[in-house]
Amino acid sequence: MNREEFLKKFTVLGLASPFMANLLSSVSNEEFFGSEESFEGKVIIVGAGVAGISAGHILSQKKIDFEILEASSVHGGRVKKIDDFADFPIDLGAEWVHKFIKARPPILKSLFDGENPDYPIFRYFPETYSLWKDGELKEKNASKHWYIWNDWKFTQTTWYDFFDELVTPAIKERINYNSPVKEIDYSSEKVVLKTATGKEYTADKVLVTVPIKILQNRYIKFIPALPEKQTKEIDKEWMPNGLKVFIEFSEKFYPEVLVLDNLVERIVVGNYVYYDATLGKKTAKNILGLLADGHESEKYVSLKSDEAIIKFVMKELDEIFDGKASKYYVKHIVQNWTAEPFIQGTYSHRKASAKKLSAPLDDKVYFAGEAMHPKGRTIAVQGASESSYLALEKMFEAAAKKGR
Ligand SMILES: Cc1cc2nc3c(=O)[nH]c(=O)nc-3n(C[C@H](O)[C@H](O)[C@H](O)COP(=O)(O)OP(=O)(O)OC[C@H]3O[C@@H](n4cnc5c(N)ncnc54)[C@H](O)[C@@H]3O)c2cc1C
Repeated sequence: MNREEFLKKFTVLGLASPFMANLLSSVSNEEFFGSEESFEGKVIIVGAGVAGISAGHILSQKKIDFEILEASSVHGGRVKKIDDFADFPIDLGAEWVHKFIKARPPILKSLFDGENPDYPIFRYFPETYSLWKDGELKEKNASKHWYIWNDWKFTQTTWYDFFDELVTPAIKERINYNSPVKEIDYSSEKVVLKTATGKEYTADKVLVTVPIKILQNRYIKFIPALPEKQTKEIDKEWMPNGLKVFIEFSEKFYPEVLVLDNLVERIVVGNYVYYDATLGKKTAKNILGLLADGHESEKYVSLKSDEAIIKFVMKELDEIFDGKASKYYVKHIVQNWTAEPFIQGTYSHRKASAKKLSAPLDDKVYFAGEAMHPKGRTIAVQGASESSYLALEKMFEAAAKKGR
């Protein structure tokens, strides 16, 4: 039986996920870790987004004892999907595969190299692009903006599927859900963590992977307090508000990309774009997406309720398309990332010193996650994942120096 036949058979039996998780466990991490590099002791990971899950994958491969404390009732963080909105799964958070960002954690290598037959990606290249400016809708030449749209997307799966099917099954029993960490005491040899639910956990090392907004809001109390120079850097970082909206219409009356005002100007301060979410997908549906982050998202997220947000969006689209939005409206979904209590925004727009931001505390508490990539590769999934490789590499090296 070849691999494809094997997968087909085991998918039918509902056994594909553990099998695929085993396939992933053969991913070589040697680029980052020598086979000798390890650590004897217990690690607690705070947060089960991409960074936390990637860290769990590495630790389980290395047979290091670990647990994950996740504040919410789900894993994935900013990688999230909805299956039943359309006839294809939709990414409510990360959606594009940003090959132009150089981070390449081993866990994602096959995906980026286009060698993963279970998770094919296609080159995202819209051909119709309109600009709404000064009350006029102008058709523009999409190819002129190829550098912005020179991106990739999953053909029929999602970022969430990739992690949920390949990575999470092997580590799921180590995730403690509904466990928001409120306190990290690293004043003694062991690190003691307290959750909002009153539980206490003890570890030799801790990897904190929460969004930078959680640190900026001082949700977690560190004992001793974080060094002043580190809090200064944390506070410098900008993780703006933002949201995504998907609307189903019975007719397609919009271009593949719709930009309000000036795309190039806007892209500097965040993303702000309406886009045909069905581009490259096998579907009979008409789904328009809206991605807004940065200053331009304020007009939506300041409205607070999802009802108020969709009303505003529909009014905006009706103005541009002469009432066609209301005429052809079927249904919508709003994913307001600012309103997620343990996320509170979109992604970091690099402002701080990447190295200072992620400096470990007394070789006991380490930082990873989207904003914490020590080379400043923020924004993307692969940067969040790679930041965990880099933080654990530091952890193992420091432990090896101390002889444990
Ligand atoms: C709208 C949007 C669009 C995006 N588009 C793309 C894209 O197209 N391509 C791309 O590559 N990337 C994209 N990204 C970015 C990408 O999603 C992130 O870089 C990545 O998912 C971040 O992973 P992370 O693990 O660092 O953080 P998160 O996913 O935020 O995970 C952090 C976890 O920590 C948990 N947590 C928070 N506080 C606590 C606490 N006190 N105790 C315990 N747990 C806690 C949270 O609940 C969360 O599960 C997008 C993000 C957004 C929001």
